[in-house]
Amino acid sequence: MSAPLRTGARLRVGLDIGGTKIAAVLLDEEAHIVARVRRSTRHGMPGLLQSVTSAIEELLEIAGGAASQLKSIGLGIPGLVDAAAGIVQHAVNLGIGEEGLDMRAALQEKFPAAQVYVENDLNVGALGAVALLDLGKIDLAYLAIGTGLAAGFVLQGKPRSGANGAAGEIGHIPVDPFGEKCACGQRGCLETVVSGTAIARKWSTTNSRPAPAALFAEAARGNTEAIKVRDEFAVGVAAAIRMVALSMDVDVIVLGGGVSELGKPLLDVVQEALRAQARGSRLLESLRLDKRIELLPPGSAAAAIGAALLGSGLADTVPILANAQGPHAQGHPSADLHLRAEIAATKS
Ligand SMILES: [Zn+2]
Repeated sequence: MSAPLRTGARLRVGLDIGGTKIAAVLLDEEAHIVARVRRSTRHGMPGLLQSVTSAIEELLEIAGGAASQLKSIGLGIPGLVDAAAGIVQHAVNLGIGEEGLDMRAALQEKFPAAQVYVENDLNVGALGAVALLDLGKIDLAYLAIGTGLAAGFVLQGKPRSGANGAAGEIGHIPVDPFGEKCACGQRGCLETVVSGTAIARKWSTTNSRPAPAALFAEAARGNTEAIKVRDEFAVGVAAAIRMVALSMDVDVIVLGGGVSELGKPLLDVVQEALRAQARGSRLLESLRLDKRIELLPPGSAAAAIGAALLGSGLADTVPILANAQGPHAQGHPSADLHLRAEIAATKS
């Protein structure tokens, strides 16, 4: 993928652990991606630990590196994460319950050279987005629209977890007391309207294509029913964006998660919904939310990259990645833009 590793280079591993897949990247000291792998997740103890360990070993093998070169291992993991203790609990999709799993202790034992960091999966998504979009030290929210809906925050360069690890669970903010029953037990949660699951309920597909892609394709062909469902979904996403913006006033809101892979067609309808909602509200208009949302490049492994940057101190790392002038600078000859270059390469 890139130049051979320098002897003795210190490496950073980042893993984004999902219910079905683990996405993992290996970064060198200049934040080049030197290897990336995806493998399926085994659930419960000790399966999960084995999946993580073998993903790390596979990365090292691809890059020709040794475990002794590992400077850090960062994990982004769903559930209630105690980042200070390195423990995860209630990761229902991973088969980890109340008893919890001390990921830090377990990995530290296997990879004694590395510092181990454990963080909420949405916060590492937010960290990765800051790095990938070349945004420097700003306040950012990462809005993950997938099976469910949740947000991660990076505030002043640091992930925000909350007192109980539940910051950003906006999918379970009740918005309609008479709405549908949610998996969490409440009624009318935001994610019953804004999620891939919500789309699938309203737009059933006959083939294997995911419902959001099928819906947007049908709407693009002019199917009026599809346009209605799509536009109602966009109104919901815009409402979620307003919630995040009005409660946290972050500079940028990045759309992530599986549904965001719809790309520009999603961005277009959401921006239109935000503009429509701002008409008639001087307050909303002044916030210019349609100009503050961003998409990640598809397949960019943002959360794994964010996990690899844990402990690097974004204050130190992001300026390295971001010393092109401002967001979206093109064609800058800086040697520090390899990460974005890698991403662009994997995109095409
Ligand atoms: Zn809920």
